[in-house]
Amino acid sequence: MKTISKKTLEELLPDLLESRIPFFQKLVQTRSTRGREDEAQMLVRAELEDLGLKVKTLRIKTAQGKIRSRTGPVVVGVLKGAGGGKALILNSHIDCAPAGPRQLWKHDPFSGMLEEGRIHGRGSLDDKAGCITILLLLDLIRNQAIKLKGDLIVHSVVEDEYSGRGTECCMIPELKADAAIIIDGHYDARLAIGHPGHIQFKIKLYGKPAPSCRADAGESAIEKSLLLIKSIRQWSEKIHESLDPHWTKACEGSLLNIGKIQGGEWVGAVPASCTIEGLMRFAPPFTLEEMKALLLKEVHRIARSDPWLNEYPPVVDFKDLSFESLELATTHPFFAIVEEAIEKVMHKSAEPYLCPGWCDLRHLHNYYSIPACMFGPGRGQGAHRPNEYFQIKSLLPHARVLMEIILEWCLIAE
Ligand SMILES: [Zn+2]
Repeated sequence: MKTISKKTLEELLPDLLESRIPFFQKLVQTRSTRGREDEAQMLVRAELEDLGLKVKTLRIKTAQGKIRSRTGPVVVGVLKGAGGGKALILNSHIDCAPAGPRQLWKHDPFSGMLEEGRIHGRGSLDDKAGCITILLLLDLIRNQAIKLKGDLIVHSVVEDEYSGRGTECCMIPELKADAAIIIDGHYDARLAIGHPGHIQFKIKLYGKPAPSCRADAGESAIEKSLLLIKSIRQWSEKIHESLDPHWTKACEGSLLNIGKIQGGEWVGAVPASCTIEGLMRFAPPFTLEEMKALLLKEVHRIARSDPWLNEYPPVVDFKDLSFESLELATTHPFFAIVEEAIEKVMHKSAEPYLCPGWCDLRHLHNYYSIPACMFGPGRGQGAHRPNEYFQIKSLLPHARVLMEIILEWCLIAE
């Protein structure tokens, strides 16, 4: 079987990566926060077309079947195989977290600045480095004129950071593969095979307005929300203690994050409304439906202890980022190939583990029932925080591992 020698990989990949740096910078400079993904996705689409993939764009639809116009497209490229090999999905996401206040950043959050081997900016690590890894692998396949037997299916998705609906909308029969790798947020030999469950909730509270000079006659929705947050936090700590010990590491720290709070109308009156939005992680023995019911029960219990909230109970809504915990078995032969490739390139054993956050693995499992994991793209810092950067060279060993997996799984046509 024709293959790529270790020497070729070691010599060629750094040069190919070097020539990808300007595009990497451009991709970071192209802000792709939620609802602004179009331009970055068009850049990725053009690259995939140039690399000879058959590319299509998909749109996320609402429950009523209408295209969600405020969300950018999902780009899917297929490098058609000659037949006789297995298909592999490589997935990365183009959407990035909001940058937050500029004051907390050393450089402009979308500078894409190259400094001491690092690319700086929001999305550089999470997850534009994932996209660059995939392009680099395709560069190598083209450079070496490799014809694979199995299809290579490339996803550049949106909404990974929000609903997961980007990957979900790729889950159609004609795009099904035999295995999948999400390239996002991992370094060294770490291999994510699962994650805790999450519930995304929005709680609306009502207050009793009164003029500010008679604030004593009102009931502040903002102050009631603080009471609610404090009690939910205490309750979440009790939930934490009763998790299955197998999940303790993945669920280390607090289970609860209140991510957004919005309340009040103007300074001249006691706030009549306040909304809090948060995420809560969970793991076995709890299921998603149980957690939703427990949170509702807890909010109602807190409301009953306050005369105003008892009369005007908070309204709880659950949002898109609500799903079960996931732990995939590693008994499928695909994992033997992944583990062997890691061992061969990195000279260490693969480290399967449960990642602490969320990711799109659940869709690949729920819709396709295929073996899947998260691996690569390498080291960096600052995901969902200020001063995000990616260490460019750390991508190389991960790209080599991924290339080994592609060759072993998809096989090279004679
Ligand atoms: Zn990510």
